[in-house]
Amino acid sequence: MSPFDTPDPDLAGATLTIDLGALVANWQALGARAGTEAAAVVKANAYGIGIEPAVTALSAAGCKTFFVAHLSEGARARAVAPDATIYVLNGLLPGTCGGYARHELSPVLGSHEELLEWAAFRQAGANARPAALHVDTAMNRLGLWPGEGLNLARERTSVVSAAGIGLLMSHFASSEDEADPANARQIAAFAEIAAALPGIPASLKNSSGHFLKDCPSYALTRPGYALYGGNPTPGRPNPMQAVVGLEARIIQLREVEAGTQVGYNGRWTAQGKRRLATICLGYADGYPRNASWTDASSGGSAVVGGVVCPFVGTVSMDLIIVDVSEAPTGSAVRGGPVTLIGGPLDLDVVGAGAKTSGYEILTSLGRRHARRYVGL
Ligand SMILES: *Cc1c(COP(=O)(O)O)cnc(C)c1O
Repeated sequence: MSPFDTPDPDLAGATLTIDLGALVANWQALGARAGTEAAAVVKANAYGIGIEPAVTALSAAGCKTFFVAHLSEGARARAVAPDATIYVLNGLLPGTCGGYARHELSPVLGSHEELLEWAAFRQAGANARPAALHVDTAMNRLGLWPGEGLNLARERTSVVSAAGIGLLMSHFASSEDEADPANARQIAAFAEIAAALPGIPASLKNSSGHFLKDCPSYALTRPGYALYGGNPTPGRPNPMQAVVGLEARIIQLREVEAGTQVGYNGRWTAQGKRRLATICLGYADGYPRNASWTDASSGGSAVVGGVVCPFVGTVSMDLIIVDVSEAPTGSAVRGGPVTLIGGPLDLDVVGAGAKTSGYEILTSLGRRHARRYVGL
Protein backbone atom coordinates (compact mmCIF):
# COMPACT_ATOMS: atom_id res chain seq x y z
CA MET A 1 0.00 0.00 0.00
CA SER A 2 1.29 3.44 -0.84
CA PRO A 3 -0.11 6.84 0.06
CA PHE A 4 0.46 7.77 -3.56
CA ASP A 5 -1.97 5.06 -4.65
CA THR A 6 -4.68 7.69 -5.10
CA PRO A 7 -6.59 8.87 -8.17
CA ASP A 8 -5.21 11.16 -10.82
CA PRO A 9 -6.21 14.78 -9.97
CA ASP A 10 -8.13 15.00 -13.25
CA LEU A 11 -10.21 11.98 -12.29
CA ALA A 12 -10.78 12.61 -8.57
CA GLY A 13 -13.76 14.33 -7.02
CA ALA A 14 -11.83 16.08 -4.31
CA THR A 15 -8.26 17.20 -3.73
CA LEU A 16 -6.38 16.96 -0.48
CA THR A 17 -3.49 19.43 -0.33
CA ILE A 18 -0.77 18.62 2.19
CA ASP A 19 1.76 21.30 3.05
CA LEU A 20 4.94 19.48 4.05
CA GLY A 21 6.67 22.81 4.66
CA ALA A 22 4.07 23.63 7.31
CA LEU A 23 4.53 20.14 8.80
CA VAL A 24 8.27 20.75 9.17
CA ALA A 25 7.69 24.28 10.53
CA ASN A 26 5.28 22.89 13.15
CA TRP A 27 7.80 20.24 14.20
CA GLN A 28 10.54 22.87 14.52
CA ALA A 29 8.28 25.21 16.49
CA LEU A 30 7.34 22.48 18.96
CA GLY A 31 10.98 21.46 19.44
CA ALA A 32 11.95 25.08 20.06
CA ARG A 33 9.11 25.49 22.53
CA ALA A 34 10.10 22.32 24.40
CA GLY A 35 13.80 23.19 24.38
CA THR A 36 14.60 19.52 23.86
CA GLU A 37 14.44 16.91 21.10
CA ALA A 38 11.00 16.56 19.53
CA ALA A 39 10.11 13.23 18.01
CA ALA A 40 7.25 12.91 15.51
CA VAL A 41 4.24 10.67 16.07
CA VAL A 42 3.39 9.29 12.62
CA LYS A 43 0.95 6.50 13.51
CA ALA A 44 -2.14 5.91 11.37
CA ASN A 45 -0.39 6.85 8.14
CA ALA A 46 0.91 10.05 9.76
CA TYR A 47 -2.58 10.95 10.95
CA GLY A 48 -3.84 10.39 7.42
CA ILE A 49 -1.45 12.65 5.50
CA GLY A 50 0.83 9.82 4.27
CA ILE A 51 3.57 8.24 6.37
CA GLU A 52 6.27 8.12 3.64
CA PRO A 53 6.09 11.79 2.65
CA ALA A 54 5.78 12.87 6.29
CA VAL A 55 8.74 10.82 7.53
CA THR A 56 10.86 11.77 4.52
CA ALA A 57 10.22 15.50 5.04
CA LEU A 58 10.76 15.38 8.81
CA SER A 59 13.92 13.27 8.51
CA ALA A 60 15.38 15.74 6.04
CA ALA A 61 14.68 18.49 8.57
CA GLY A 62 16.58 16.58 11.26
CA CYS A 63 13.92 14.52 13.05
CA LYS A 64 15.61 11.36 14.38
CA THR A 65 12.86 9.65 16.38
CA PHE A 66 9.43 8.49 15.24
CA PHE A 67 6.50 6.80 16.94
CA VAL A 68 4.01 4.56 15.11
CA ALA A 69 1.24 2.32 16.47
CA HIS A 70 1.74 -0.90 14.48
CA LEU A 71 4.69 -2.94 13.30
CA SER A 72 3.45 -2.56 9.73
CA GLU A 73 3.63 1.23 10.09
CA GLY A 74 7.10 0.89 11.57
CA ALA A 75 8.24 -1.10 8.54
CA ARG A 76 6.95 1.64 6.23
CA ALA A 77 8.71 4.34 8.24
CA ARG A 78 11.93 2.30 8.30
CA ALA A 79 11.91 2.04 4.50
CA VAL A 80 12.26 5.83 4.20
CA ALA A 81 14.23 6.55 7.42
CA PRO A 82 17.06 4.01 7.55
CA ASP A 83 18.86 5.64 10.48
CA ALA A 84 15.95 6.76 12.68
CA THR A 85 14.84 5.32 16.01
CA ILE A 86 11.30 4.08 15.46
CA TYR A 87 9.15 3.16 18.45
CA VAL A 88 6.01 1.06 18.07
CA LEU A 89 3.46 2.24 20.64
CA ASN A 90 1.29 -0.86 20.67
CA GLY A 91 4.24 -2.87 21.90
CA LEU A 92 4.83 -6.59 21.85
CA LEU A 93 2.03 -8.82 20.80
CA PRO A 94 3.10 -12.40 21.55
CA GLY A 95 5.50 -13.73 18.95
CA THR A 96 6.30 -10.42 17.27
CA CYS A 97 9.90 -10.00 18.50
CA GLY A 98 11.18 -11.28 15.15
CA GLY A 99 9.32 -8.56 13.26
CA TYR A 100 10.91 -5.95 15.49
CA ALA A 101 14.39 -7.29 14.85
CA ARG A 102 13.81 -7.64 11.11
CA HIS A 103 12.82 -3.99 10.67
CA GLU A 104 15.09 -2.66 13.45
CA LEU A 105 12.12 -1.30 15.37
CA SER A 106 11.82 -0.56 19.07
CA PRO A 107 8.81 -1.80 21.01
CA VAL A 108 7.15 0.38 23.62
CA LEU A 109 6.86 -2.25 26.34
CA GLY A 110 3.61 -1.85 28.22
CA SER A 111 3.51 -4.68 30.73
CA HIS A 112 5.75 -6.91 32.80
CA GLU A 113 5.07 -9.82 30.41
CA GLU A 114 6.25 -7.74 27.47
CA LEU A 115 9.35 -6.69 29.37
CA LEU A 116 10.22 -10.33 30.14
CA GLU A 117 9.54 -11.49 26.59
CA TRP A 118 11.73 -8.76 25.11
CA ALA A 119 14.52 -9.31 27.66
CA ALA A 120 14.54 -13.04 26.86
CA PHE A 121 14.66 -12.31 23.13
CA ARG A 122 17.64 -10.00 23.55
CA GLN A 123 19.41 -12.38 25.89
CA ALA A 124 19.07 -15.11 23.29
CA GLY A 125 21.46 -12.99 21.25
CA ALA A 126 19.04 -11.18 18.97
CA ASN A 127 20.44 -8.00 17.49
CA ALA A 128 17.57 -5.87 18.74
CA ARG A 129 17.23 -2.12 19.20
CA PRO A 130 16.62 -0.61 22.66
CA ALA A 131 13.00 -0.56 23.77
CA ALA A 132 10.87 2.04 25.55
CA LEU A 133 9.13 1.32 28.83
CA HIS A 134 5.62 2.73 29.17
CA VAL A 135 4.28 3.60 32.61
CA ASP A 136 0.55 4.26 32.85
CA THR A 137 -0.08 7.31 35.03
CA ALA A 138 -3.80 7.76 34.28
CA MET A 139 -5.15 6.12 31.17
CA ASN A 140 -5.58 2.54 32.37
CA ARG A 141 -4.87 1.50 28.82
CA LEU A 142 -1.26 0.46 28.20
CA GLY A 143 1.75 0.55 30.49
CA LEU A 144 3.03 -0.68 33.82
CA TRP A 145 1.28 0.51 36.95
CA PRO A 146 3.32 3.30 38.57
CA GLY A 147 3.96 0.94 41.51
CA GLU A 148 5.36 -1.71 39.18
CA GLY A 149 7.64 0.89 37.63
CA LEU A 150 8.89 1.97 41.06
CA ASN A 151 9.46 -1.65 42.07
CA LEU A 152 11.54 -2.24 38.98
CA ALA A 153 13.56 0.82 39.84
CA ARG A 154 14.01 -0.20 43.44
CA GLU A 155 15.18 -3.66 42.49
CA ARG A 156 17.07 -2.20 39.54
CA THR A 157 16.66 -5.70 38.33
CA SER A 158 18.61 -7.26 35.58
CA VAL A 159 15.42 -7.41 33.51
CA VAL A 160 15.63 -3.65 32.86
CA SER A 161 19.19 -3.89 31.57
CA ALA A 162 18.50 -7.17 29.80
CA ALA A 163 15.59 -5.54 27.97
CA GLY A 164 17.79 -2.61 26.95
CA ILE A 165 15.48 0.22 27.95
CA GLY A 166 16.35 3.38 26.03
CA LEU A 167 13.33 5.49 26.95
CA LEU A 168 10.89 5.82 29.83
CA MET A 169 7.54 7.29 28.90
CA SER A 170 3.97 8.02 29.97
CA HIS A 171 0.99 9.55 28.17
CA PHE A 172 -1.38 12.36 29.19
CA ALA A 173 -5.09 11.63 29.43
CA SER A 174 -6.39 15.22 29.22
CA SER A 175 -3.53 17.58 28.42
CA GLU A 176 -5.67 19.59 25.98
CA ASP A 177 -7.64 20.78 29.04
CA GLU A 178 -5.06 22.69 31.05
CA ALA A 179 -7.55 23.15 33.91
CA ASP A 180 -7.88 19.40 34.48
CA PRO A 181 -6.22 18.49 37.81
CA ALA A 182 -5.30 15.10 36.35
CA ASN A 183 -2.40 16.80 34.53
CA ALA A 184 -0.59 17.80 37.72
CA ARG A 185 -1.16 14.32 39.17
CA GLN A 186 0.34 12.70 36.07
CA ILE A 187 3.28 15.11 36.01
CA ALA A 188 4.05 14.29 39.67
CA ALA A 189 3.62 10.52 39.26
CA PHE A 190 5.89 10.48 36.23
CA ALA A 191 8.50 12.68 37.94
CA GLU A 192 8.73 10.16 40.77
CA ILE A 193 9.31 7.25 38.39
CA ALA A 194 11.77 9.18 36.23
CA ALA A 195 13.75 10.12 39.36
CA ALA A 196 13.77 6.47 40.44
CA LEU A 197 15.21 5.39 37.08
CA PRO A 198 17.95 7.96 36.51
CA GLY A 199 20.03 7.58 33.42
CA ILE A 200 17.12 6.49 31.26
CA PRO A 201 15.95 9.33 28.98
CA ALA A 202 12.30 10.19 29.58
CA SER A 203 9.36 11.41 27.53
CA LEU A 204 5.97 12.75 28.62
CA LYS A 205 4.65 15.56 26.40
CA ASN A 206 2.22 14.94 23.56
CA SER A 207 1.12 17.96 21.46
CA SER A 208 -0.93 19.68 24.14
CA GLY A 209 1.67 18.80 26.79
CA HIS A 210 3.95 21.39 25.13
CA PHE A 211 1.52 24.10 26.27
CA LEU A 212 0.98 22.94 29.87
CA LYS A 213 2.50 25.03 32.62
CA ASP A 214 4.94 23.39 35.01
CA CYS A 215 5.56 20.35 32.85
CA PRO A 216 9.18 19.33 32.25
CA SER A 217 10.10 18.49 28.68
CA TYR A 218 12.50 15.68 29.63
CA ALA A 219 14.75 14.32 26.87
CA LEU A 220 12.13 13.81 24.17
CA THR A 221 8.64 15.06 23.34
CA ARG A 222 6.05 13.18 21.27
CA PRO A 223 3.83 15.56 19.31
CA GLY A 224 1.32 14.18 16.83
CA TYR A 225 -1.83 16.22 16.21
CA ALA A 226 -0.16 19.65 16.38
CA LEU A 227 2.38 18.62 13.71
CA TYR A 228 -0.53 18.23 11.31
CA GLY A 229 -2.04 21.62 12.18
CA GLY A 230 -4.45 20.50 14.92
CA ASN A 231 -4.94 23.03 17.71
CA PRO A 232 -3.15 21.82 20.85
CA THR A 233 -4.80 24.63 22.87
CA PRO A 234 -8.54 24.24 22.23
CA GLY A 235 -10.52 27.39 22.94
CA ARG A 236 -7.47 29.56 22.30
CA PRO A 237 -6.03 30.67 18.93
CA ASN A 238 -4.27 27.85 17.10
CA PRO A 239 -0.49 28.37 17.32
CA MET A 240 0.20 25.81 14.57
CA GLN A 241 0.30 26.25 10.79
CA ALA A 242 -2.38 24.52 8.73
CA VAL A 243 -1.05 21.43 6.94
CA VAL A 244 -4.17 19.94 5.40
CA GLY A 245 -6.64 21.47 2.94
CA LEU A 246 -9.59 19.70 1.33
CA GLU A 247 -11.44 20.98 -1.68
CA ALA A 248 -14.30 19.43 -3.69
CA ARG A 249 -16.47 20.72 -6.54
CA ILE A 250 -20.09 21.59 -7.12
CA ILE A 251 -21.87 19.11 -9.39
CA GLN A 252 -25.28 20.72 -9.54
CA LEU A 253 -27.26 23.72 -8.21
CA ARG A 254 -30.99 24.16 -7.59
CA GLU A 255 -33.47 26.57 -6.00
CA VAL A 256 -35.99 25.14 -3.54
CA GLU A 257 -39.12 26.67 -2.03
CA ALA A 258 -40.02 26.91 1.66
CA GLY A 259 -41.17 23.55 3.00
CA THR A 260 -39.01 21.48 0.63
CA GLN A 261 -37.48 18.45 2.29
CA VAL A 262 -33.92 17.64 1.32
CA GLY A 263 -31.79 14.48 1.29
CA TYR A 264 -32.36 10.94 2.59
CA ASN A 265 -35.46 10.66 4.81
CA GLY A 266 -36.20 14.37 4.34
CA ARG A 267 -34.46 15.27 7.56
CA TRP A 268 -33.97 18.94 6.64
CA THR A 269 -36.76 21.29 5.60
CA ALA A 270 -36.17 24.61 3.85
CA GLN A 271 -37.57 27.47 5.98
CA GLY A 272 -37.65 29.78 2.97
CA LYS A 273 -36.51 29.91 -0.63
CA ARG A 274 -32.97 28.50 -0.65
CA ARG A 275 -30.22 27.87 -3.17
CA LEU A 276 -28.61 24.45 -2.79
CA ALA A 277 -25.38 23.03 -4.21
CA THR A 278 -24.64 19.32 -4.39
CA ILE A 279 -20.93 18.59 -4.02
CA CYS A 280 -18.94 15.52 -5.02
CA LEU A 281 -17.83 14.21 -1.63
CA GLY A 282 -19.54 12.15 1.05
CA TYR A 283 -19.01 9.73 3.88
CA ALA A 284 -17.23 7.22 1.65
CA ASP A 285 -14.56 9.90 1.31
CA GLY A 286 -14.12 9.85 5.06
CA TYR A 287 -16.28 12.88 5.79
CA PRO A 288 -18.38 11.67 8.76
CA ARG A 289 -22.08 11.06 8.27
CA ASN A 290 -22.47 12.62 11.72
CA ALA A 291 -21.90 15.98 10.01
CA SER A 292 -25.47 15.74 8.63
CA TRP A 293 -27.50 18.91 9.28
CA THR A 294 -31.13 18.15 10.13
CA ASP A 295 -34.11 20.10 11.45
CA ALA A 296 -33.11 18.87 14.91
CA SER A 297 -29.32 19.26 14.89
CA SER A 298 -26.56 21.32 13.34
CA GLY A 299 -23.71 19.75 11.37
CA GLY A 300 -20.83 20.51 9.04
CA SER A 301 -20.12 23.37 6.66
CA ALA A 302 -18.21 24.28 3.52
CA VAL A 303 -16.64 27.56 2.42
CA VAL A 304 -18.01 28.85 -0.89
CA GLY A 305 -16.77 32.20 -2.22
CA GLY A 306 -15.26 32.98 1.18
CA VAL A 307 -18.52 32.42 3.07
CA VAL A 308 -19.14 29.51 5.47
CA CYS A 309 -22.24 27.70 4.15
CA PRO A 310 -24.03 24.97 6.16
CA PHE A 311 -24.64 21.43 4.95
CA VAL A 312 -28.32 20.51 4.65
CA GLY A 313 -29.80 17.06 5.15
CA THR A 314 -28.03 13.77 5.58
CA VAL A 315 -24.46 13.34 4.35
CA SER A 316 -24.74 10.74 1.56
CA MET A 317 -22.12 8.19 0.57
CA ASP A 318 -20.73 10.24 -2.31
CA LEU A 319 -22.53 13.58 -2.02
CA ILE A 320 -23.25 16.42 0.39
CA ILE A 321 -25.84 19.15 -0.15
CA VAL A 322 -24.79 22.66 0.88
CA ASP A 323 -27.00 25.72 1.37
CA VAL A 324 -25.16 28.32 -0.72
CA SER A 325 -27.87 31.01 -0.47
CA GLU A 326 -25.49 33.33 1.39
CA ALA A 327 -22.50 32.74 -0.91
CA PRO A 328 -21.57 35.80 -3.04
CA THR A 329 -23.26 35.93 -6.42
CA GLY A 330 -21.31 34.02 -9.03
CA SER A 331 -19.24 32.01 -6.53
CA ALA A 332 -21.48 28.94 -6.38
CA VAL A 333 -21.35 27.63 -9.93
CA ARG A 334 -21.37 24.22 -11.56
CA GLY A 335 -17.80 22.86 -11.34
CA GLY A 336 -16.80 25.55 -8.88
CA PRO A 337 -14.68 24.84 -5.81
CA VAL A 338 -15.87 24.39 -2.26
CA THR A 339 -13.51 24.12 0.71
CA LEU A 340 -14.21 21.45 3.32
CA ILE A 341 -11.03 21.92 5.34
CA GLY A 342 -9.15 25.21 5.26
CA GLY A 343 -9.51 28.86 6.22
CA PRO A 344 -12.14 29.22 8.94
CA LEU A 345 -12.83 25.49 8.75
CA ASP A 346 -9.78 24.25 10.61
CA LEU A 347 -9.55 20.66 11.82
CA ASP A 348 -11.11 21.42 15.19
CA VAL A 349 -14.08 23.29 13.67
CA VAL A 350 -14.65 20.46 11.19
CA GLY A 351 -14.43 17.91 14.01
CA ALA A 352 -16.96 19.83 16.11
CA GLY A 353 -19.36 20.05 13.14
CA ALA A 354 -19.20 16.27 12.85
CA LYS A 355 -19.57 15.71 16.61
CA THR A 356 -16.08 14.23 16.75
CA SER A 357 -12.50 15.45 17.13
CA GLY A 358 -10.14 16.88 14.56
CA TYR A 359 -8.01 13.78 15.16
CA GLU A 360 -10.72 11.55 13.73
CA ILE A 361 -11.30 13.90 10.79
CA LEU A 362 -7.59 13.71 9.90
CA THR A 363 -7.20 9.96 10.24
CA SER A 364 -10.38 9.22 8.28
CA LEU A 365 -9.78 11.35 5.24
CA GLY A 366 -8.43 10.61 1.91
CA ARG A 367 -9.02 7.26 0.28
CA ARG A 368 -10.63 8.74 -2.82
CA HIS A 369 -9.01 12.14 -2.88
CA ALA A 370 -6.24 13.19 -5.19
CA ARG A 371 -3.28 14.21 -3.06
CA ARG A 372 -1.11 17.21 -3.71
CA TYR A 373 2.07 17.50 -1.62
CA VAL A 374 3.33 21.08 -1.55
CA GLY A 375 5.58 23.36 0.46
CA LEU A 376 9.00 21.74 0.11
C1 LIG B 1 -0.85 9.35 19.82
C2 LIG B 1 0.13 9.48 20.90
C3 LIG B 1 0.91 10.66 21.04
C4 LIG B 1 0.65 11.90 20.21
O1 LIG B 1 -0.47 12.57 20.77
P1 LIG B 1 -1.02 13.94 20.15
O2 LIG B 1 -2.10 14.35 21.08
O3 LIG B 1 -1.52 13.60 18.79
O4 LIG B 1 0.11 14.88 20.12
C5 LIG B 1 1.91 10.67 21.98
N1 LIG B 1 2.12 9.60 22.78
C6 LIG B 1 1.36 8.48 22.72
C7 LIG B 1 1.62 7.36 23.65
C8 LIG B 1 0.35 8.39 21.78
O5 LIG B 1 -0.41 7.29 21.72
